[in-house]
Amino acid sequence: MVEQHAEPLYRISSTTGETQMATAAKIQQTDWTALRTIFGDRFSDSAAVRDHHGRAETFYPAMPPDAVVYPLNTEEVAAAVSFCNEQGIAVTPYGTGTSLEGNFLAARGGLCIDLSRMDQVLRVSTDDLDCTVQAGVTRKQLNTELRDTGLFFPVDPGADASLGGMASTRASGTNAVRYGTMRQNVLGLTIVLADGQVIRTGGRARKSAAGYDLTGLFVGSEGTLGIITEVTLRLYGQPEAISAAVCEFETLRGAVNAVIQTIQIGLPVARIELLDPLQIRAINAYSRMNHRECPTLFLEFHGTPAGVAEQAESFGQVATENGGGNFHWATNTEDRTALWDARHKVHYANLALRPGCKAIATDVCVPISRLCDCIEETRRAIDDSGLTAPIVGHVGDGNFHVVLVFDPNSADETQRAKTLSEQIVAIALAMEGSCTGEHGIGIGKKAHLVTEHGPAVEVMRQIKRALDPAGIMNPAKVIDV
Ligand SMILES: Cc1cc2nc3c(=O)[nH]c(=O)nc-3n(C[C@H](O)[C@H](O)[C@H](O)COP(=O)(O)OP(=O)(O)OC[C@H]3O[C@@H](n4cnc5c(N)ncnc54)[C@H](O)[C@@H]3O)c2cc1C
Repeated sequence: MVEQHAEPLYRISSTTGETQMATAAKIQQTDWTALRTIFGDRFSDSAAVRDHHGRAETFYPAMPPDAVVYPLNTEEVAAAVSFCNEQGIAVTPYGTGTSLEGNFLAARGGLCIDLSRMDQVLRVSTDDLDCTVQAGVTRKQLNTELRDTGLFFPVDPGADASLGGMASTRASGTNAVRYGTMRQNVLGLTIVLADGQVIRTGGRARKSAAGYDLTGLFVGSEGTLGIITEVTLRLYGQPEAISAAVCEFETLRGAVNAVIQTIQIGLPVARIELLDPLQIRAINAYSRMNHRECPTLFLEFHGTPAGVAEQAESFGQVATENGGGNFHWATNTEDRTALWDARHKVHYANLALRPGCKAIATDVCVPISRLCDCIEETRRAIDDSGLTAPIVGHVGDGNFHVVLVFDPNSADETQRAKTLSEQIVAIALAMEGSCTGEHGIGIGKKAHLVTEHGPAVEVMRQIKRALDPAGIMNPAKVIDV
């Protein structure tokens, strides 16, 4: 049967009262001469560049900006934002464009500020274990530059994202269970506000009781309050010994209970990632691996050689008590890199399960004691939906992802995917969890933010209005004003 062409999952409604025709008229009227003069060939309004900046990895429809600039420093960002503020043009910051909730899509057109050429590591202190980078430096670039210092930066979303983008989405990754998320690892920021003013928040001191925590406010604000141009980060000593393992379980419940007990006894695992059997099938095919298709944990231990051996032994006991066994150790660097590389590529492995399909990559987070119930209930909902949807997660934090692979040309599948993604969030919220552990709200989870935070969203709205009265900063994201 030929399916009816599916409706797009998300439509953006105007919240400013501006009609689409008025917006189109404004686009035509925008005189970009001032920005062309400042940025020269680092200004572009070509269709290809606009298109590149208006497409997300996931299922959202394309929303290109009207023009793109590539600043080199804070002053140039401030000049571009001041221009937009004077003209009443929307501004969308762009890091590497890997966010999954339509976070950087130019919902109201306007100017995209691509920070990728702000790629300088400005300062590294081995004595204080910190550094300051321009916002466009990526996590892999930073770690390459740190290699000879004996330090590293641990936050590792699957993509090689920019540190400005990671701060803006409050990103985390496989190491967060031991080293924390961007929330714990950003010490200070340089920010361009909506009127072009430049402020510095936080600083290099490890503790400060000085005033409101503006760093915390901007971390996770998804470009809706200002543009981060520099980030000061915590660094860590490279561990003396690292050991990684794959542990197979008979049941999903056994694997998740092993995680819960590992956290509850305070075992300082550096990484503990759950992959369900379908997820294992996907990475076996995509990354040419040969794991048994069963509930599996990928683990890593950091410390001294003796400490690592002790942690591995303690985890072994927990695993055995929960029906786990069959450890495969990745002892050399090459095997370890291959293991985590496969883990980081699960999004693409999942898309490859059904070529030509799209994905909703949702993530939720619950208190660790509810993790087993939440994953089991989610698994049942997936089975009932009949959709292809592997479960994978940073389970040590109570955080897991479901990648809902669906055929966008099937109205029925599209609707089932949408219903299931909402069900997954509802299950987590009913267990005192969060609608997103790390991907952010973007366009897709605005309604869930209201369910999760209720009247507190009105306080967020007041903050947004105070910092961005003209509503130009990444409009239509996080909250509707
Ligand atoms: C394969 C894959 C795996 C992933 N795995 C993870 C994961 O494990 N954990 C995780 O947390 N995320 C993960 N993500 C999502 C994504 O990598 C993160 O959201 C990341 O933080 C986005 O960074 P970016 O540089 O790509 O930012 P972008 O996607 O370009 O932007 C993200 C948001 O921040 C804003 N923004 C960007 N730069 C700035 C700035 N300098 N100042 C202010 N606002 C800014 C944008 O407007 C947008 O709202 C994954 C994505 C992919 C494709």
